[in-house]
Amino acid sequence: MKSNTAPRYTARSGWNALLPERDPRQDFPHGRRYSAIVVGAGYTGLGAARRLAELMPESEILVIEATEIGEGSSARNSGFVTVTPAKPQANAHGSADDDAERKIRISIAGLDWLRTLVRDHEIDCDWDEKAPRIDAAVTNAGERRVHALRNLYERWSIRCLEHTFEGLTEFLGTNYYRCGFEPLTRALVQPAALIRGLADHLPSNVTILERTTVETVGGKGPFQVHTNRGEFVADKVFIANNAHARSLGFLADKLIMVYTYAALSPELDDNDLNRLGSLPAWGVVPVFSMGTTMRKVQRRFLIRSCASYEKEHDTEKIRSHLTRLFRNRFPRMKSHQLEYVWGGATAFTSNGQFYFGQLRPGLYASLGCAGGGLSRGSMHGKLLAEMACGSQSSLLTDRLMLASPNWIPPEPFRGIGAIAKMTWEGWVAGREH
Ligand SMILES: Cc1cc2nc3c(=O)[nH]c(=O)nc-3n(C[C@H](O)[C@H](O)[C@H](O)COP(=O)(O)OP(=O)(O)OC[C@H]3O[C@@H](n4cnc5c(N)ncnc54)[C@H](O)[C@@H]3O)c2cc1C
Repeated sequence: MKSNTAPRYTARSGWNALLPERDPRQDFPHGRRYSAIVVGAGYTGLGAARRLAELMPESEILVIEATEIGEGSSARNSGFVTVTPAKPQANAHGSADDDAERKIRISIAGLDWLRTLVRDHEIDCDWDEKAPRIDAAVTNAGERRVHALRNLYERWSIRCLEHTFEGLTEFLGTNYYRCGFEPLTRALVQPAALIRGLADHLPSNVTILERTTVETVGGKGPFQVHTNRGEFVADKVFIANNAHARSLGFLADKLIMVYTYAALSPELDDNDLNRLGSLPAWGVVPVFSMGTTMRKVQRRFLIRSCASYEKEHDTEKIRSHLTRLFRNRFPRMKSHQLEYVWGGATAFTSNGQFYFGQLRPGLYASLGCAGGGLSRGSMHGKLLAEMACGSQSSLLTDRLMLASPNWIPPEPFRGIGAIAKMTWEGWVAGREH
């Protein structure tokens, strides 16, 4: 069960690099005994810690983070807070529509919760619910997908706005996309600023310990949580470190790690900005899983694309790939330089479903977050804390009704299968990539 695997990235998160320096909280606490320990300070872990602190105000909670706040995947993403459901599927309790509606309710509650926290704590993270976030198509197959998705979203009561080729060309400043639609419940954020703000405004009975890696979790409750810097004891432990949970011995047969990559351009000059469409901020997401995401963020561009199985790719290779994709979409720009390029780890399961629940008495986990982690991860963390404290709610019932991840065979079959799937999906995406 001993782990050697702490997340290590070759490049800083560009979002975090745009923010002022901060001192990670790494003073080793005197107290070694906690009511609850949370492993991982991403959206899931902080969601769990906040809710535990609210439900157990007399108890002390410790959050242990291997990197620093602002350098994990929660600050390496594209900053879309979405409510659209990942991989709806029929389960033992209902149809695929029922599954989708439960997932949407959870994500909307996550978005509402984040909005409230941002407002109440005045978190300066460019929270924006006005900027459009468009599912856009480039190819014939993409256009068919746009129509199919839009019909599904309307069936699930997600209000959407349609965008024609002319409209997209006018406000994005490129004729690359032929049509799209915009789900109207969403937000765009600066994700490093959001996760920092959430960590800085936790209830006072939560302690965060950064640059400290949990290496083993032993015992049957109380649990011994052994880190590279010393040991703690806790009555309850919450595993919220996504695919890295495998290195602690959890769900190794259900999770795979996939890296995806993002980059920010330098600030564009007025000439380049004027060539771009009429809107100050927007986001475009692909309708194929191996497609490319773009955002206009004040004077910069964000581009996210590419994926790799288990290992991070070389940053310079990714830079040249992302530069080509950026140039394809915006050929009239004077420069396609990228200032920050970085990768981030996500967790995939074979059927796209999360693990959520109790691994054994007192040991809880929410794992398997590929995308949508800002809203869904936050809410899963919150619901996990509620479950552990014996609370009941309709949202917790929704979450407990969802399917679990399937078994994945060991290497070499899992690697062969995952790479073949990614290659096939890349081929299907074609120019959407
Ligand atoms: C480039 C990119 C773009 C994305 N775009 C979006 C988007 O626009 N919208 C969206 O919702 N999602 C997006 N995602 C996915 C999103 O980032 C994840 O869903 C989200 O980060 C999952 O949150 P989490 O808290 O479950 O896990 P994480 O954010 O991965 O948090 C887990 C934390 O655990 C820490 N950790 C790991 N192992 C240990 C250990 N042994 N001990 C202590 N700490 C440990 C890690 O350092 C990490 O900080 C994107 C991801 C990437 C990489």
